[in-house]
Amino acid sequence: MPMRDFFHSVMQIGPVQIGTHRDRHGQTKHAAVCTSNDCGWSADYSSQSAAQLAARTHRCRVR
Ligand SMILES: [Zn+2]
Repeated sequence: MPMRDFFHSVMQIGPVQIGTHRDRHGQTKHAAVCTSNDCGWSADYSSQSAAQLAARTHRCRVR
């Protein structure tokens, strides 16, 4: 799990957690992290709405 200790989870959409963290420039980033063990997908977004959209449209790799 690439869970960082400065990651603050704010919501869960399906298997995907959305949380905020600060990048090295002090800007707040919205990260979407899939909690499914077989998936491991994660991505950073500059807005929470973008992260929510990605979480809703995320499909775990099924193979
Ligand atoms: Zn997934």
